[in-house]
Amino acid sequence: PSALRTEDGRQQVTITGEDAHHLGRVLRAQPGDRIKATDGRGNLYEVVLTVVTPETVRGDVLAVGPDQAEPALKITLFQSILKGEKMDWVLQKGTEIGITAFVPFLSARTIARPAPNQYAKKQERWQNIVTAAAKQSGRGLIPKVYPVTPWSAVPSMLAGQFTLVAWEGETTCSLRQALSQREQPTAVQLVIGPEGGFSPEEVAVLVAQGALSVSLGPRILRAETAGPLAAGLLLFHYGA
Ligand code: SAM
Repeated sequence: PSALRTEDGRQQVTITGEDAHHLGRVLRAQPGDRIKATDGRGNLYEVVLTVVTPETVRGDVLAVGPDQAEPALKITLFQSILKGEKMDWVLQKGTEIGITAFVPFLSARTIARPAPNQYAKKQERWQNIVTAAAKQSGRGLIPKVYPVTPWSAVPSMLAGQFTLVAWEGETTCSLRQALSQREQPTAVQLVIGPEGGFSPEEVAVLVAQGALSVSLGPRILRAETAGPLAAGLLLFHYGA
């Protein structure tokens, strides 16, 4: 919702669009009903409804506070673009699990290569999937989907940040070992390859600038499994 303070000091929220339609038409909310609403930026409002139409729902704020559903650990998933529904799956499950942002990128072995004139449309579609998943799972923040990013831009986006690159060829460092060496971070950048995996050179570029190459175990995971699983393990490990 959008929130504003009225002249008599009350804080009011206004809900429009699909959410108003859902409340007014589908759920048949009534004035006097109490709801919880989030502004998608991490704030949770407890609201008593005053006006309900299918176009606009308005209410008085009873309480506002930080949304407790948001993890303290901010995970950004750099995901090499996957074919068809696999990418949708990663975005939907990753949002439910608690990922904060997604960077879809193109690496040497990426199979799914949208035409450049489709990038904006793809981003919009992916953002819609994430927004729906965030609402469904009660997230207080709508994770951001970044534009399709060429590999050449990825290393500089990760420079100086705590970065884990999941590489099935990693034989010495497990995710558990990498995390045990590190005090609780506030943010983690997680990098997952495409169906054909990363080239050794791509991993080497990231490792040379300080990323940790990690194994997610002795079994090769499907590309769409690796990101959501690693994100779940990170949140479990740090209790965030
Ligand atoms: N060919 C399968 C597919 O089509 O889904 C497997 C793809 S696997 C090579 C894709 C990505 O998942 C890898 O680039 C890596 O980031 C991650 N991954 C999968 N299994 C892994 C493991 N055991 N350890 C670390 N990363 C792994």
